[in-house]
Amino acid sequence: MVSLLPTNTLFSSSSFTRLPPSSYSPPLPSWPTKTLPTPSSARRRSISPRAVLQWNRKPQLAGETPRVVVITSGKGGVGKTTTTANIGLSLARLGFSVVAIDADVGLRNLDLLLGLENRVNYTAVEVLNGDCRLDQALVRDKRWPSLELLCISKPRYKLPLSFGSKAITWLVDALRSRTDGHPDFVLIDCPAGIDAGFITAIAPADEAVLVTTPDITALRDADRVTGLLECDGIRDIKMIVNRVRTDLIRGEDMMSVLDVQEMLGLPLLGVIPEDAEVIKSTNRGLPLVLNNPPALAGLAFEQAAWRLVEQDSMTAVMVEEEPKKRGFFSFFGG
Ligand code: ADP
Ligand code: MG
Repeated sequence: MVSLLPTNTLFSSSSFTRLPPSSYSPPLPSWPTKTLPTPSSARRRSISPRAVLQWNRKPQLAGETPRVVVITSGKGGVGKTTTTANIGLSLARLGFSVVAIDADVGLRNLDLLLGLENRVNYTAVEVLNGDCRLDQALVRDKRWPSLELLCISKPRYKLPLSFGSKAITWLVDALRSRTDGHPDFVLIDCPAGIDAGFITAIAPADEAVLVTTPDITALRDADRVTGLLECDGIRDIKMIVNRVRTDLIRGEDMMSVLDVQEMLGLPLLGVIPEDAEVIKSTNRGLPLVLNNPPALAGLAFEQAAWRLVEQDSMTAVMVEEEPKKRGFFSFFGG
């Protein structure tokens, strides 16, 4: 029996390489320098998170900063905002400064996921109107001050017609030339669809994270979006496959990650399992990566953030599946 396992990933003990010890001392108290408590899901599956959580070094930031990354998908409801919130917070926990821009104007909800909805007084529209300064519109997360949120407009606010690619590019340029230092990452949470909102959101981006679920409708939209991103000059596109269910893959009722990769032909940044904890964390306004004990999907988001920093991706390989690990590893299809 063979199954698809990505190398260098939380889910592949056979290919896991232990990191060398380093003298790096974490900048933030909850940095997982040693081991975190065993998640109940991992206990059930008898894998040891000790093997996967000993990240005792800071990831090496690759590429020029600020790295401007758009999180997009084409189809709605596949997990773009969840990804932006969790990767944004993971990056902040890794010690990088992050500005998350909610470019989903009509259906803004990144503020809700980050639990910052009551703190948004000014938005980009007021900045562009000259009613406030940019730093007044940046909402700093109190728990992780290196994460800031910028909303484009107030909910149910009609966006001025003049707001488009030039305006968002101006905002990103303004972040770039901030006197108190530019951020390491600008994450742009893109609206669904491929109309004006999408064109605006991708305009300032140099790289993209394409979020998809393993179903045919999401994949068709993701494929279309990939083409549009490439036309716009964004060649660095990595994908996150979200809401993956082992039981359905095993019963051949869901595409495996290998199938998705073959269809889209994109490097893999992360594979996120379907996890009820995501919905709970959404409703609590507390991103999943802050869960203690950690949830499986939260760990997967943290791994994806790590790979984003190092401009790394998982390489899908076929490996022999060890019978005792079958339940866990068949997550990637067989
Ligand atoms: P989008 O921004 O693409 O429209 P969201 O991030 O708002 O999508 O997610 C849509 C819904 O899917 C939310 O209710 C969210 O909690 C849920 N969701 C996203 N990812 C997962 C997951 N891995 N497991 C379970 N639910 C998820
Ligand atoms: Mg969204």
